[in-house]
Amino acid sequence: MSAEDFRRFGYQLIDWIADYLEKIDERPVLPSIRPGELRAQLPQMAPERGEPMERIIADIDRSIAPALTHWNHPAFFAYFATSASAPGIFGELLSAAFNVNAMLWRTAPAAVELEEVALDWLREMIGLPPEFEGIIYDTASISTLHALAAARESLNLRIREEGMAGRADLPPLRVYASEQAHSSVEKAVIALGLGQRAFRPIRTDEQFRLDVSALRRAIEDDVAAGALPCAVVATLGTTSTTSLDPVAEIADVCHERSIWLHVDAAYAGVAAMLPEKRELFRGWERADSIVTNPHKWLFTPLDLSAFYCRRMETLRRAFSLVPEYLRTDERVRNPMDYGIQLGRRFRALKLWMIMRYFGRAGLQARLREHCRLARDFAAWIEREAEWELVAPVQFSVVCFRARPDRALSGEELDALNERILNHVNSTGQAFLSHTRLNGRFTLRLAIGNMRTGEEHVARVRELLSQALKENVK
Ligand code: PLP
Repeated sequence: MSAEDFRRFGYQLIDWIADYLEKIDERPVLPSIRPGELRAQLPQMAPERGEPMERIIADIDRSIAPALTHWNHPAFFAYFATSASAPGIFGELLSAAFNVNAMLWRTAPAAVELEEVALDWLREMIGLPPEFEGIIYDTASISTLHALAAARESLNLRIREEGMAGRADLPPLRVYASEQAHSSVEKAVIALGLGQRAFRPIRTDEQFRLDVSALRRAIEDDVAAGALPCAVVATLGTTSTTSLDPVAEIADVCHERSIWLHVDAAYAGVAAMLPEKRELFRGWERADSIVTNPHKWLFTPLDLSAFYCRRMETLRRAFSLVPEYLRTDERVRNPMDYGIQLGRRFRALKLWMIMRYFGRAGLQARLREHCRLARDFAAWIEREAEWELVAPVQFSVVCFRARPDRALSGEELDALNERILNHVNSTGQAFLSHTRLNGRFTLRLAIGNMRTGEEHVARVRELLSQALKENVK
């Protein structure tokens, strides 16, 4: 493509994106598309000869965009709502243009150093001490996998050298997390070959927080049975309810027994930049490792997970393997030494651009506004006799359900709430998701999109009221 064409189509695409974001409200959040429908529309084979860019862009407009679930939509309230901010989009664009591979300092000096700078800035903003060094991975699932690999390495069991299979000298390892922890913890345990039974889900209290006395008992029982505790994963901001495990008390347990403490703050960690929320994180600074995801609640386009660790050397010991063709002379930190992947994208650029564009105050203001919108919505739920809150509102997520008639059985209430959810989502005007709490079907409203305003939350209230009226029998 000539430079002239690149400019022409580049301007055209930026215009397309600007329109898309400006008018995204006019699209349904969820596409009305059946599985396989898009595939059926598209040719089964790549074209023999290149096609004009105009046609490709036209197909994106005609076929691809309408078949998307629009995560940038201000009425996207499912899972953890996210948004791609303009500086984040520009960062992605530039990172693709530079196309550097940040495996070594030498292969991308600016990418490697900017990653350190951006992660230092973020670390300072969320109040972690400088002992924490950072590295960017793609997702929290991968961050947690690396944390648990480092935890295992810290046990000095020569697992790197000799593996785990058939080792009579090796006690069974155990990893503890609350039963509300994200499934990525259990998946990491499986992927690391510890065996699914090594994962010990610990019960939670009535506010969905890990029960520390149950954790202590589980550890004591395991040790008495000859097992070796490898790590505890505390969650600050659980996936279902954003509950907060008592991390200071958990840190006490881990320190007493020299167990690696990993904190999963994938969603909520960035909220530690709010002084009024900082107390909720008290004790996390004593962890060995922490993950938080700017791609969740810091307006960063997917993907970017910030992993902080105060024992980087242990992580390096678990993963560093330098073949001759990658050896360099500089005495520097090479990202490839701290994980499974070799090739690495220039992710830091978008985070750095976002922090510069919004500034600390701008980011704080947006997070605060989301928390306020969530509190307002929760207050409405509490005022309405036919609805109830199911979990405390800590940040920007509200768990609730319809309970129009006290005489309805649990199963009838589950079915009603599921119908309400489907009804609201089928309008295309909002997208909510659900979870199960205490065995019961629960609706979740997650606010996290920077384009979400009061009017969108008000509309959800109307949709919910309408859906309740039409679905209650
Ligand atoms: N941890 C928590 C608490 C989460 O809520 C999630 C996803 O929602 C994850 C981990 C996994 O995040 P990722 O998609 O970045 O792997």
